[in-house]
Amino acid sequence: MSCIQKRYVFSLLLLFFIIFCSLFTTLEATASSSCMHYEPIKEMPVVKKHHYSAAAVPTKYNYPQNYFRSPLDIPLILSGSFGELRNNHFHAGLDCKTKGVEGKNIYSIADGYIKRIKVSPGGYGNALYVEHFNGYTSVYAHLQKFQGTIGQYVKDRQYSLQSFELDENVDPGVLYVKKGQVIAKSGNSGSSSAPHLHFEIRDSQTQEAINPLLFGYKISDTRTPLIQSIGIYNMASENLFIGPRVFGTKKEKGVYKLPRYTFNVSTPLIGLGIKAYDKQNAANNLNGIYSIDLLENGNKIYSFDVERISFAETRYINNHLDYKLKRTGGGNLQKCFIEPNNLLSAYKNVINRGIIDLSDGQTHKMMFIVRDLAGNSSRLSFNLKYSPSKKVTIKPPSHDAMFSYAVDNYFDRDQIHLYFPYGSFYNDLYFKYSSSAPSAETKGVYSLYHKVHNNKTAVQKYFDIKIKARYLPAELRSKAVIVYKDTRGRKKSIGGNWEGDFLKARTRDFGTYYITTDTQAPKIRPITIKPGKNMAKNSTITVKISDNLSGIKSYNGYVDGRWVLMEYDAKYARLRHWFDEKTGKGKHTFRLVVEDGVGNVKTYTASYRR
Ligand SMILES: [Zn+2]
Repeated sequence: MSCIQKRYVFSLLLLFFIIFCSLFTTLEATASSSCMHYEPIKEMPVVKKHHYSAAAVPTKYNYPQNYFRSPLDIPLILSGSFGELRNNHFHAGLDCKTKGVEGKNIYSIADGYIKRIKVSPGGYGNALYVEHFNGYTSVYAHLQKFQGTIGQYVKDRQYSLQSFELDENVDPGVLYVKKGQVIAKSGNSGSSSAPHLHFEIRDSQTQEAINPLLFGYKISDTRTPLIQSIGIYNMASENLFIGPRVFGTKKEKGVYKLPRYTFNVSTPLIGLGIKAYDKQNAANNLNGIYSIDLLENGNKIYSFDVERISFAETRYINNHLDYKLKRTGGGNLQKCFIEPNNLLSAYKNVINRGIIDLSDGQTHKMMFIVRDLAGNSSRLSFNLKYSPSKKVTIKPPSHDAMFSYAVDNYFDRDQIHLYFPYGSFYNDLYFKYSSSAPSAETKGVYSLYHKVHNNKTAVQKYFDIKIKARYLPAELRSKAVIVYKDTRGRKKSIGGNWEGDFLKARTRDFGTYYITTDTQAPKIRPITIKPGKNMAKNSTITVKISDNLSGIKSYNGYVDGRWVLMEYDAKYARLRHWFDEKTGKGKHTFRLVVEDGVGNVKTYTASYRR
């Protein structure tokens, strides 16, 4: 068996083990108490600990070196690295600079065939997935356009499905590509904030993204990783802790130092966190690091690396990072202890979940080692010592319900029902809830305001929220949605379906929810077109579309009654039809129909000449 096969088999065994453990804990937990309402639970169910592999093998040697060429013909300069810490995910690829412009050639990195084509108004925008013959798939995203026969294939499919948006699995053999063949032009499509190529290499079987720098791509990098600060948590147990206290570093003569060398702490159990970044030589972008090792008295007690990221696990970043610190402007502190329901598999060499036990009263020598993939590393040393004279007792925060992470949880009040499936929480949760009635002058609010815990706590899975309507006129029922008030007070619709007097939806955010209605049709603002215009000099029909609340559900453009492709770029609210051979000279009628999430429709019609 090759190393990769061995690794695959091992991952499979690990997966079975995890499934077995979760089944076991779920069954056991269901037997004791399947749902928690307002009573704090007396005894926590016993939960099996997850296993971590014993040794971090330098796995980069398992990947084929120099089999793949560069996807670009300009030097690879990274504005984003693999595993970089993003909102709700670890970055799954490399962001390669394209000199600030669109239209650079994108090359297939090896022989293979197009396996999947995705076109969307957000996300990856125009994206290509190429399957190669060595077990890996390369992904190219935010493309401006697809090249040659690939472009024709996409357009044909869009016309036959009458949809701009596309997620096509292409049969092997339909679109073969050669190593070094131009397959697209680089762009800025989808959720991209500047022109660049997002490039991934995936394991074809598992679709896990693998760090492309492990395949022999050379990025000039002689800069050592930056260690910005550490965080110290006081812990009563893995289920209850406070902190962090954050201490910034200083670099003196090439050595990172904290404000003091020995920290006398007030609990015998301590957790640590670290804020660290990396820069490469050619750009000043603050990119992500490759790995973190934490040593206690010379022994590894925690390692984390970004060799691979599975899309099923990526949201665990919200527990890998200190989410509350992030949400309150404190940046990305990576926790180096693992909460009970954090199932990220990027952790290795973990002893006691990374929790440091100082109850022996001795001085414990701690060391962080942070590495990039070019062989640069930075270290930070300090001591921890427990001072019983300073002892603090950590008390659970005030709460309205206590949720165990190891079971399904329910919360029921007269006007709200919540259901959190097992796995929603990373740890036991001291849940807070309150409600208030809208003031007499408030218009358009048809429920209580429900404050569901707080938005500084992350939730891993979608949970059900059901809110009871109050004083909602019958004729507005079909226009009702549940809205979430985000941190900046903006309203975001999460939709909803009726169950009796309750509107039900799914969400992954804690915060304030209520019912309102969307009675406004989407807006259409013509940009290049107006009735009666001679458009001989125009190459596009361009309009801007927007919706006030429930969001754009569909958009369909027609020329002389025939459906035409309109490219939608959500970040610019821009809808654009490129004139082509299908629309000849003469007089034409353009009609656009845009519908929002609750069925409000806006139509725009204009005749034009070409
Ligand atoms: Zn990217």
